[in-house]
Amino acid sequence: MKTAYHDVVIVGAGPAGLAAAAELARRGVSDVLIVEREKEAGGILRQCIHDGFGVDRYGESLCGPEYAQRLIDEAAQHAQILTDTTVLSMTAERELTLVSREGLKKVRAGAVILTMGCRERTRGALAIPGERPAGVFTAGVAQAYMNLYGRMIGRRAVILGSGDIGMIMARRLTLSGAQVEGVYEIRPIPSGLPRNVAQCLDDYGIPLHLSHTITEIHGSARVTGVTVSAVDAKGAPIPGTQRHIPCDTVILSIGLIPENELSLGAGIALDPVTRGARVDEHLQTSCPGVFAAGNALHVHDLADEASLEAEQAARSAAAYLAGPLEACRIPVRAGAGVGYALPAYVSGAADASISLRVRDKLAPCSIVLRQGGREIARRRLLAAIPAQMIRVALPKGAACGEAEIVVSAE
Ligand SMILES: Cc1cc2nc3c(=O)[nH]c(=O)nc-3n(C[C@H](O)[C@H](O)[C@H](O)COP(=O)(O)OP(=O)(O)OC[C@H]3O[C@@H](n4cnc5c(N)ncnc54)[C@H](O)[C@@H]3O)c2cc1C
Repeated sequence: MKTAYHDVVIVGAGPAGLAAAAELARRGVSDVLIVEREKEAGGILRQCIHDGFGVDRYGESLCGPEYAQRLIDEAAQHAQILTDTTVLSMTAERELTLVSREGLKKVRAGAVILTMGCRERTRGALAIPGERPAGVFTAGVAQAYMNLYGRMIGRRAVILGSGDIGMIMARRLTLSGAQVEGVYEIRPIPSGLPRNVAQCLDDYGIPLHLSHTITEIHGSARVTGVTVSAVDAKGAPIPGTQRHIPCDTVILSIGLIPENELSLGAGIALDPVTRGARVDEHLQTSCPGVFAAGNALHVHDLADEASLEAEQAARSAAAYLAGPLEACRIPVRAGAGVGYALPAYVSGAADASISLRVRDKLAPCSIVLRQGGREIARRRLLAAIPAQMIRVALPKGAACGEAEIVVSAE
């Protein structure tokens, strides 16, 4: 089989992959191939028909398909977008195997940018007792049925988990005439953004039950109801608090997992917390010349953030093609109160930005970066919640040597 060559291959044509292609063109890299397994480019945004996208990037509120189309128009001017084609595997030497209706293809790349997005956690991850009746959907699948294929998925729904997509689907179902009985969240705080609690639940009178979970799903052919229970501080159901709720639909919004089968196949080191690649400040993975960005790297709240991060990966890929990148030897670690901090390594020789999420709700607080006990950066915040990604600037020269940087929330 003949192997084609491209300067950069981008895996996935969601907002991250498309933004990376446009940035590569601005950096003078013109031989770029984007591979997308779906029939159309645009990624998950194709099914997000509500507005609110692009406020940072374009200064206006667009719906998902409009936002995606702007990125597609920009990327298509400079890059070849190969749709209906899946990247099956990749080696550490940046050789990719592609499959489409036309068969298999091999492509070698000067650099690779991984922007495969993420997938949803399913019912199997929770092991909720009950049979396997129809009517249980992950929020993203429900969104696809309703927004891409025009199908109504049920009349009376219960939502498990207060992730953003679940809350958006609570509103979507209500607007389509369904009764949403409530959103049940095991944690004492919502896992999605406050604006979605306000705009998708409060505005429609949909109750949010914190510290509650579904303990059983009833029905054999189709869902007939669920049992919900209050939970204690450890998330264990409290005996005697069970309630039966009749419904025909259960929507699961219980978390997203970065898509990284390809990365694993190439031997790329993953972070056990984010489940994305461990990257340095160039967003370069443990495989030289392979970069990662967007939801494949860590789950983002906003498409704007995913695309901005991908532009950074594109600048690094362009620099990599031109010569070696600055070595990054200073490890970065999440400390007290911080769930994860990314990148895992910085150089100290350039301005860097640390992305992180706190573990719990804090107000007010500071995010503090220390190296060997010395404070090297601080960002004061009126409030911080796990649902909102935080960035802290680490100016050039603030960190030096090779001692680790610890990121904590105080
Ligand atoms: C199910 C779901 C629903 C969402 N709904 C909303 C919403 O309603 N509102 C909101 O603000 N945000 C929503 N988001 C978040 C938002 O869409 C993301 O922030 C944004 O799309 C991330 O962009 P991305 O390019 O990293 O990933 P994606 O948009 O997921 O794009 C990744 C692309 O990679 C492709 N791909 C993956 N693996 C391969 C492979 N091996 N070969 C070829 N192509 C591949 C996929 O088909 C996909 O097109 C949702 C996210 C998900 C997962």
